[in-house]
Amino acid sequence: MNPRRISVLGATGSIGDSALDVILRHPDHWVVAALTAHRHWEKLAELCRRHRPEIAVLSDPVAAHALERALAGQGLPTRVLAGEAGLIEAAALPRVDTVIAAIVGAAGLKSTMAAALAGKRILLANKEALVIGGAVFMAAVEKGGATLLPIDSEHNAIFQCLPASYARNPAAAGVRRIILTASGGPFRTRPLAELSRVTVDEACAHPNWVMGRKISVDSATMMNKGLEMIEAHWLFGVPRERIEVVIHPESVVHSLVEYVDGSVLAQLGHPDMRTPIAQALAFPDRVDAGVPALELVRRGSLTFEAPDLERFPSLGLAYGALGAGGTAPAVLNAANEVAVAAFLAGRIRYIEIAPASAEALARLPARPVFTLDDALAADAEARAVARAWLKLPLAA
Ligand code: NAD
Ligand code: MG
Repeated sequence: MNPRRISVLGATGSIGDSALDVILRHPDHWVVAALTAHRHWEKLAELCRRHRPEIAVLSDPVAAHALERALAGQGLPTRVLAGEAGLIEAAALPRVDTVIAAIVGAAGLKSTMAAALAGKRILLANKEALVIGGAVFMAAVEKGGATLLPIDSEHNAIFQCLPASYARNPAAAGVRRIILTASGGPFRTRPLAELSRVTVDEACAHPNWVMGRKISVDSATMMNKGLEMIEAHWLFGVPRERIEVVIHPESVVHSLVEYVDGSVLAQLGHPDMRTPIAQALAFPDRVDAGVPALELVRRGSLTFEAPDLERFPSLGLAYGALGAGGTAPAVLNAANEVAVAAFLAGRIRYIEIAPASAEALARLPARPVFTLDDALAADAEARAVARAWLKLPLAA
């Protein structure tokens, strides 16, 4: 069989690194057809030399120009494209079978949608696309005949714990609850009074996972778990009342499914994103992901505790936004993106992140979402509210 052709959207990021590592281990299974990034042209140039893709895209046109110059005269088959149109082309390339959607934030929405409408097999890391697009995104998957495979570790765990028949007939599966595990991040036990002083480096120092900076901050606030509740709702068609969040500091149990007969199925493994990526790439087969065996005896004990909503107000906000429905999740996500970017840039304090989202949700009551433009309009309004509330310059 010919190897499957893959587009990696967000190739220079943390998920991009893990995905390309798995792909390189199995050149007989997969080859890279497209690589994309935002501005990091030096790293993308290096990846192009290694993987020889058909196209390479940088959303920043100046960086795309630099990449073009760097690759000139090297005999590569690679065309360099720029901007969102280039990302969309990478997502919908005719001979591409699988798209790894690993751009961070709302910036990944349109290309991920394009992959859905083009009927690709989508390995979804870009949870923000699903949080913003919700019903519209799922309808595009259906319409395009795409296959959606989650690689967010929790959702991949749930996918592995559900029967194959679940998509056809969820009612017959007897699922009582979905239980998402969360590490609790770097501030799980930090005295509340100290949270006003925590630094960007502390917030990005996740105890178990090495990830991009935005998701690392989201893990510290637990907004990540809030976004994941919304992601689980759309992926598995489960109402919020049947999604539970449990703190599990060791990050070994990646999530669980509880059935009506009392069975609880879990997926365990080292906290290494190559496992869910390899599972989804090879599905329904399995391949070596380069991840060492989990030694249970060496791990010793696994512990679980309830999340504290005073410490993690973002989790409560996400629960509320999922209940309100319509534009509320898009508003939550957009305000959070603005606040996290401002925190990472040293403009606001950690404890201002959650109130910015709360303000946007309070000021912008949920409206129904019929089209992607409805969601994007709410996204833009929420960014404006959050910027004003955080006293940021308008274009920040
Ligand atoms: P990252 O910051 O390491 O990488 C982000 C990638 O997106 C980079 O290639 C960057 O060039 C690209 N990008 C950033 N802004 C862009 C823009 N405006 N336009 C086009 N491309 C842009 O992030 P990450 O940790 O790899 O996370 C990527 C996605 O995967 C996020 O949605 C995150 O929530 C999700 N995810 C990550 C992990 C993880 O372990 N890192 C786990 C689960 C889910
Ligand atoms: Mg996750």
